[in-house]
Amino acid sequence: MGYVPCVANVDMSVEESLLLLKFNVDKEAHIKLDEKKCEACKLKPCLYVCPVQNFKLEKGQLVFNWPGCLECGGCRIACEQLGMGAVRWSYPRGGFGVLFRYG
Ligand code: SF4
Ligand code: SF4
Repeated sequence: MGYVPCVANVDMSVEESLLLLKFNVDKEAHIKLDEKKCEACKLKPCLYVCPVQNFKLEKGQLVFNWPGCLECGGCRIACEQLGMGAVRWSYPRGGFGVLFRYG
């Protein structure tokens, strides 16, 4: 079995790496939340795990935005393990979402 070598550019910051990404944002959210469960959720781990801070609290209410989503699945796992299981997660439809470029 052959392996593709993984070459990390250690001189690049996370912010610089994120600038290499392109997004084709779908109008329809690929991640959906059960608002009632979110209201009842005390810990709200989604606020801390999302690497691009797509979850925010505004006037005490959880607000979710999907543009910029890296499709890492962290919010789903955190919500299942420490939240209320409110995240219905799927990849974006074909042709939409993040495009990882290497350079
Ligand atoms: S962790 Fe889940 S249930 Fe809690 S606020 Fe976030 S999305 Fe909602
Ligand atoms: S999949 Fe990852 S990047 Fe996308 S909203 Fe969830 S935690 Fe954030």
